[in-house]
Amino acid sequence: MKRAISNIISSIVTSSQELMIGGAPVEVRRSPRAQRMRLRVDPRKRVVLLTIPGRISQRRALAWASEHHEWVARMLAAIPGCEPIVPDARVPFRGEPHRIDWQPGRPRRIVRGDGLLAAGGPLEGLEARVLRWLKGQALETLTEETRTLASRADVMTPRVGVGDPISRWGSCSSSGTIRYSWRLILAPDFVRRATVAHEVAHLVHMNHGPDFHALVAELHGEDPRPARLWLRREGASLHRIGSRI
Ligand SMILES: [Zn+2]
Repeated sequence: MKRAISNIISSIVTSSQELMIGGAPVEVRRSPRAQRMRLRVDPRKRVVLLTIPGRISQRRALAWASEHHEWVARMLAAIPGCEPIVPDARVPFRGEPHRIDWQPGRPRRIVRGDGLLAAGGPLEGLEARVLRWLKGQALETLTEETRTLASRADVMTPRVGVGDPISRWGSCSSSGTIRYSWRLILAPDFVRRATVAHEVAHLVHMNHGPDFHALVAELHGEDPRPARLWLRREGASLHRIGSRI
């Protein structure tokens, strides 16, 4: 039986007027460019992101979103807790677990050893230092791999940056800048490389057509589908590394 829209809306508005769906707060984003309504769960902030195109009223969008409360609850339940980077914690690096081997007497600089990341300096700021190191490794590795594949594809080397987007592992702008999630450095090599091949192929084809896919496979040197599957299955686990500050 269909409930009246007003009922649905009242069921997702708490007494504090904070919008909730499936037990999580909702962040509404107005996007004149969006073609349709979109609902996502931010695994890090544990909030629901609702994108509303310009022509659709917030009231209608909220009613639509609330119909998906079960899906939202399922997504939230599937988010594992975060794994803070503390002494003896295991952090994946290029697909292999690395133990945080912290000793206060050592220099602050992070040094990768066999199955461990050696770290020193004060305990305070350890996590920030390890995260900085991981991001640096990500930028260095991804820049180098992007450069190699760009020359193989016979295109100009793009500018490369890393960030921490929620739902994308890489993006390629029409101006030729490629941005990656730094968390790719946590994933196995074939996953990271397939993502690089995907973004570099976009420098040639700004679409997902057959020519694009053929180029991705050529640049990657193997079937890129296992990498996509890996990210779909394990991607959320990469997002739980490090405290959410
Ligand atoms: Zn793409």
